[in-house]
Amino acid sequence: MVGYLGVSDIQRLVNQIGPATFIERLAGEIEADYARWDDFEKSARLASHSPVGVIELMPTSDGRLYSFKYVNGHPRNTAVGLLTVTAFGVLADVETGYPLLLSELTVTTALRTAAMSALVARHLARPDSRVMALIGCGAQAEFQVIGFHRLQGIRELRLFDVDPLAIVKLERNLRSLPELADLKVTRAASTAEACQGADIVTTVTADKRNAVILTPPMVAPGMHLNAVGGDCPGKTELHADILRLPGVRVVVEYEPQSRLEGEIQQMEPGFPVVEFTDVVRGLSPGRTGRDDITIFDSVGFALEDYSALRFLLRLQSERSGERREIDLVPEIEDPKDLFGGTLGAGKSRLRLAS
Ligand code: NAD
Repeated sequence: MVGYLGVSDIQRLVNQIGPATFIERLAGEIEADYARWDDFEKSARLASHSPVGVIELMPTSDGRLYSFKYVNGHPRNTAVGLLTVTAFGVLADVETGYPLLLSELTVTTALRTAAMSALVARHLARPDSRVMALIGCGAQAEFQVIGFHRLQGIRELRLFDVDPLAIVKLERNLRSLPELADLKVTRAASTAEACQGADIVTTVTADKRNAVILTPPMVAPGMHLNAVGGDCPGKTELHADILRLPGVRVVVEYEPQSRLEGEIQQMEPGFPVVEFTDVVRGLSPGRTGRDDITIFDSVGFALEDYSALRFLLRLQSERSGERREIDLVPEIEDPKDLFGGTLGAGKSRLRLAS
């Protein structure tokens, strides 16, 4: 039987330890995996584009465990009551090829993206950063706020979204979290106003085009930009001139994928970037001075989902009483008698899902 985590299981697992602690622990897992970068098989994800969105497969392996995620990105979905991003994934044993866990990854992707954003900011942002502008208040937003509050110590948040209802929803959810009681939240009338005086700017908007959410006048020396929403070809958030500002340092996850999908798709092929693994391993400095403008050109890399799936498997096995299973793979006495053990009338030992 294969371990199974549905949305309600994730809800229970995350709420048992709290979303902030979950994000913090997951950030630790992701950081440890980026530190052993060379152990992983790496490839740019396989994307199937349509005029309205993208469906992607994201595989990786460290030789012991293999994982893949199915994920979509459809910015117009919310207009018809559907999520922009949904996902699920599998963790498998390389030794046998058997799947160990099938899990929902929609909520988990939001948690892991927040964990990754906040982790990178801890390496790149000025340590005394306390004020964050958040542009885009959709599905990912709460997770980003919780991550930055816990890991980076953000205590003031300035919100902007073109959809006022999304801001109201975010404010309501943030107010319901006791651990965010010390977070001052204000609304801005525009992106420019939100960015004024911010130490960190997170852009997490959804629009399948080369959008210009941030322009150079909104960016000040010393800022850290966490650019999350530009994550596939023809879908960006930063004006290209931001990447050319003096003192800019761009950090990416896996360079070959980010050249196709990140903000840097707008730049010439030799445009300098640093891979996050080199920052984690101390091979390249993140920030070199207070006035650097650091940019995390986030697109989401398979390793982060691998870390998340392995973390979920461990959490699930720690709470063995709650383990749910699914009959995804036949369990039969004679592995050569697949027919007899399943469809035939032989002595099958086929068990049904619990
Ligand atoms: P969503 O559709 O739920 O929310 C997006 C929000 O952006 C909406 O509220 C929308 O009104 C707002 N918006 C759109 N254009 C705007 C503009 N010009 N100015 C201000 N606000 C604007 O989507 P989501 O699930 O929150 O995802 C947000 C983005 O993050 C998507 O583009 C998604 O593909 C991306 N994403 C990236 C990663 C990663 O690892 N980098 C992971 C998950 C999602």
